[in-house]
Amino acid sequence: MKPRILGASKIHESALKKAMEFAEVDVKPDLTEDDLVNIIGEYDAIIVRSKPKVTKRMIDAGKKLKVIGRAGVGLDNVDRDAAKAKGVEVVNSPEASTISVAEHAIGLMLSLLRHIPRGDRMIREGKWDRKLMGNELHGKTLGLIGFGRIGKEVAIRAKAFGMNVIVTDPIMTSEDAREYDAELVEQSDLLKRADIISIHVPALPSTKDIINDKTLGMMKPSAVVINTARGHCIDEDALYRALKEKRIKGAALDVYKNEPLERSPLTELDNIVLVPHFGANTDEGQVSAGMVVVEKIRHILKK
Ligand code: NAD
Repeated sequence: MKPRILGASKIHESALKKAMEFAEVDVKPDLTEDDLVNIIGEYDAIIVRSKPKVTKRMIDAGKKLKVIGRAGVGLDNVDRDAAKAKGVEVVNSPEASTISVAEHAIGLMLSLLRHIPRGDRMIREGKWDRKLMGNELHGKTLGLIGFGRIGKEVAIRAKAFGMNVIVTDPIMTSEDAREYDAELVEQSDLLKRADIISIHVPALPSTKDIINDKTLGMMKPSAVVINTARGHCIDEDALYRALKEKRIKGAALDVYKNEPLERSPLTELDNIVLVPHFGANTDEGQVSAGMVVVEKIRHILKK
């Protein structure tokens, strides 16, 4: 008999097709926790996105449940302790959004340095101001804080723009960096040398407020900061002050300490580009997130 998978969120069609090759799949998005508790006992696996929550009640009711698949990165909506206690495996697909986020980081650099969002706003307000001067990426030094999956893909793209790339990452060697035509440096060196600083680290105690009053003070006045990692990495009050007082040139953020971002003083500033955490939101990224998680579920159910 084929195993049964419950798609408790909308999963991309191509991923569903792949799951149907080895399992019976029911797609039931928008169920309440009570509904899910009532039906979970029939399934060997469940797939969710950032919703619904996979709670202890559901996991306890999942008598046959072997694996919880999260199509995407964050596992905040899965009670991992409850899963662990029941021997239920939890898989996700952080690798699926790598290209989407890397391209987004480059997009934010161009948006900021060429004032693309400001230009768009001007036109809509009936203004035609061609005096705004931008900067090229070419010849600039890009400093990557974090040189994992996304950092490396950003480096490849930055090289195509003719940038010099310097990186800092505690688990990387100079040899790893050289493979990408990049230079491994100390974080303090990177902060002093980079024209563009792009953050690609996970949210760890050691990465909290990497960008703070002290580190902002080490940057060139012409430097800009790009964050597509986690809001956790930036002291937003310190960034606001540095931008307001023009101690650095600009910033572009996809992620924030508190999401959704509401009534932040950052929105008053002209030298910042703000977008609502959609670094991973591409059709391609979503297909890949579904495919990767289905493949991981297949592997576990086969055991
Ligand atoms: P990864 O695990 O492949 O790489 C992270 C790297 O950061 C590792 O090499 C690690 O050694 C390094 N690192 C850890 N602490 C460091 C420190 N203090 N200084 C410098 N480097 C440090 O992760 P990834 O897939 O490249 O993802 C990077 C970040 O992007 C994560 O925070 C992730 O949550 C975020 N992300 C955001 C979106 C989005 O929608 N904006 C989507 C996916 C991932």
